[in-house]
Amino acid sequence: MSTQSIWFVTGSQHLYGPETLKQVAEDTRQLVASLNASGQLPVAWVQTATMTDTEAITRLCREADADENCAGVVLWMHTFSPAKMWIKGLSTLRKPILHFHTQFNRDLPWGCIDMDFMNLNQAAHGDREAGHLHTRLGLRRKVVVGHWSDPSTVRELAGWSRVAMGWHELQRTKIARFGDNMRFVSVTEGDKVAAEAQFGFSVNGFGVGDLVERMQSVPDDAIDQMIEVYSDLYDVAPELHLGGDRHDSLRDAARQELGIEAFLVEGGFGGFTTTFEDLHGLNQLPGLACQRLMKKGYGFGAEGDWKTAALLRFAKAATAGQTGGTSFMEDYTYHMEGGNELVLGSHMLELCPSISSGRPRLEVHPLGIGGKADPVRLVFDAKVGPALNASLVDLGDRFRLIVNTVRGVEVPPMPLLPVGRAVWEVEPDFKTGLAAWIYAGGAHHTVYSYDLTAGQMEDFAVIAGIEAVFIDKDTNMRDFRRSMRGM
Ligand code: MN
Repeated sequence: MSTQSIWFVTGSQHLYGPETLKQVAEDTRQLVASLNASGQLPVAWVQTATMTDTEAITRLCREADADENCAGVVLWMHTFSPAKMWIKGLSTLRKPILHFHTQFNRDLPWGCIDMDFMNLNQAAHGDREAGHLHTRLGLRRKVVVGHWSDPSTVRELAGWSRVAMGWHELQRTKIARFGDNMRFVSVTEGDKVAAEAQFGFSVNGFGVGDLVERMQSVPDDAIDQMIEVYSDLYDVAPELHLGGDRHDSLRDAARQELGIEAFLVEGGFGGFTTTFEDLHGLNQLPGLACQRLMKKGYGFGAEGDWKTAALLRFAKAATAGQTGGTSFMEDYTYHMEGGNELVLGSHMLELCPSISSGRPRLEVHPLGIGGKADPVRLVFDAKVGPALNASLVDLGDRFRLIVNTVRGVEVPPMPLLPVGRAVWEVEPDFKTGLAAWIYAGGAHHTVYSYDLTAGQMEDFAVIAGIEAVFIDKDTNMRDFRRSMRGM
């Protein structure tokens, strides 16, 4: 991510003369330096030349699109900047766009304000001129309003920058699909061609035999080293220790992890899917490998779910460096006690330990599905706190993003359920939240995140140009249904 940057473009015009333009550039320099020094931005913001004519703007927009390290473009009209100058450039600009409606001076100098001050600090109408053109062109963009020194404004800018980073990553993400879809399942299917055109990521299938071959060439000493890593990071069950009865299962899991990671690295993949119905040559369903590779930032979807794998890859890139945690998730089963309704989220094995509330335990247990040897997995309870579930579905003629804000609660002891577990309350309440999810066609697989906000998911949907629906504390069922096309 360190090579990425976001371009900060200040608009003006020649009418004011060189002195004013010099001041505009200097004010921009201070503003950008202050934002970079805030420690909030996930990538550097870089000031470009001040834009004052059609030719330069058009050239800049082309350069932004051509620059593979440019993750997005921020626009600000310090002075007035006649917007017809921006038509050519903005009409073709494909990078994510944020329109920052701010002003250099926070306070008006009431006692000494004069016409020179008024001419220099004209964002109040310069940005309206810009916004009108953006709307007229149908430009998909984010508008952030506020003074650049205000912490809540900086947080908004940082949140969008993270989404731009995630989107940037998605444009070069390749998903490796080992095996096909879980048989007969509908929601994990979809149009991969339409998805690549809409979101930029590609999905291609690989025989599980290719993966097994790669696993077989993993050297023993690499496995030894991996076992040490496991001992450092997790409480390893005694039977898995060197000399323990099941130590071979752990070595097998380490071989899987190293083999899958090598396959992904060598092929330049950012995510992958597996399916328990296609495990030829694998001794156990990959559990630990999927968990740890998610923790490293790879997208993952079980049962061939490439949409969730891609959405998770976006989420991992967008939340890089954050510590709340983000995982592949499945709404598994409910606690339906009146007034205390809860969802138990889990999977057969594959939850990311980034959401664990403590040090995970590394254990081996039987799995009643897949017909393979007992798989090794990390066992943990997810954190308490605000979170969200996001699901990307293919409705045949379009994609829809469904986002439900939830609250992670204390996970009750479940001694007979040795997997990663999360328990949450849905907003606005159990009945409304789940009915809305089902009306919207949301999947049972989701991306579950303590770091991403609903606002960021909205930014993602805007950049992608897809429909998005939100289920939160303000959701009213009648309005919600009306808000969706085709309901
Ligand atoms: Mn599943």
